[in-house]
Amino acid sequence: MKKWIIFFVCILALVGCGSETENEESSEESSNQEEQTNEQVEEEEKEETEEQSNEDTTESSEDESETKNDEEQEQDQVEDDNDNSNSSTNDKENQEPLYEMNDVWSFKPINENDAPSEVVLLTIDDGPDGQALEMAKTLNELDAPAIFFVNGIFMEDEESQEIVRQIHEMGFPIGNHTYSHQNLSEVSESEQREEILSLNHLIREVTGEKPEFFRAPHGVNTDFAKQLVEEEGMLLMNWSYGYDFKQGYMEKDAIADIMVNTELLSDGANLLMHDREWTNAALKDIVQGLRDKGYNMLDPDTILLPTDES
Ligand SMILES: [Zn+2]
Repeated sequence: MKKWIIFFVCILALVGCGSETENEESSEESSNQEEQTNEQVEEEEKEETEEQSNEDTTESSEDESETKNDEEQEQDQVEDDNDNSNSSTNDKENQEPLYEMNDVWSFKPINENDAPSEVVLLTIDDGPDGQALEMAKTLNELDAPAIFFVNGIFMEDEESQEIVRQIHEMGFPIGNHTYSHQNLSEVSESEQREEILSLNHLIREVTGEKPEFFRAPHGVNTDFAKQLVEEEGMLLMNWSYGYDFKQGYMEKDAIADIMVNTELLSDGANLLMHDREWTNAALKDIVQGLRDKGYNMLDPDTILLPTDES
C-alpha cells in the first residue's frame, strides 16, 4: 500500500515538477532564444549591430518623447484651463471668414446671406499709450470687437506688455503698426524689415500669437513693405475715415459726433481711432451712435485673411 502511495506521490510530484520544468524550460527556451538571438546578432555583421543600437537609440528617444508628451499634455491642460476662462476669445478664433476687404479698405460679406452688410470695423492705433486698456474695457462691456494696432516703442516695459496681454485676452486682435511709427517711405528696406518683423516677434512673445493685421504709420505703404507683410501672412489695411488726430476733433463731443455723422459712414467702413483721451472719452457714444444708425461692429476674427486663401 505504502509503495502505491509513494508511487502516486512520486507521480504527482513528477507531474508538478514536469509542469514547473516545462515552464522553466519554456522560460529557459525563450531566454535561450534571446541568447541565441543575441549571439546571432553578435555574430552577424556590424551593420546590423549598428542598426540595433540605432533601434536602442530610437527606443530611448521614444521614451524621452513620451515624457515630453506627458509634459506637453500637462501644458495643454493648463492652456485648456486658461482657454476656459477665456472662452469668448476661443469661440471667435474658430469662426469661419464672413467678410473680405476690398481695394479701399472696407469690408463686404463674402456671401450676403451669411452676414449683414451694415457693419463697420473699429480700429485703435498707436497704443498702448495710456488709454488702450480702458478703451478695451469699454468696448468689451459694449460687446464691440475692434483691432488694436500697437507700436513696439509703447510696449518696451513689462507694464505696457501686460496691458497688451490683457487686451489680447479680452479677445481683441493685436495688429502690427510698426515698431517705432516711422514713415516707411523714408527709411531703408532693412529698416522697414526691422520695423515690421521685430514688432511681430515682440507681439508673439507677449500674446503668444503672431499678428494677423498690419497698418502702416500714416497709411504710407511701400512696395517692399507690402511684399513683406504678404510674406508674413498679414492683411494690410489703411482706413475709410478717421478724425481724432485732426484740429477741431480732439475733444470728446466733436469726435463722438463726426465718427457717427460723417458722410463717409457707409457699409463695411474701416474706422480709424487712436489711443487718445478724447477718443477714449467718446468711445461709448461712438459705438452707441453707430448702432443707433443700424451698424453692427464687425468682428475682426470673421475677416478673410491671406492665410485663409489656399
Ligand atoms: Zn499711427
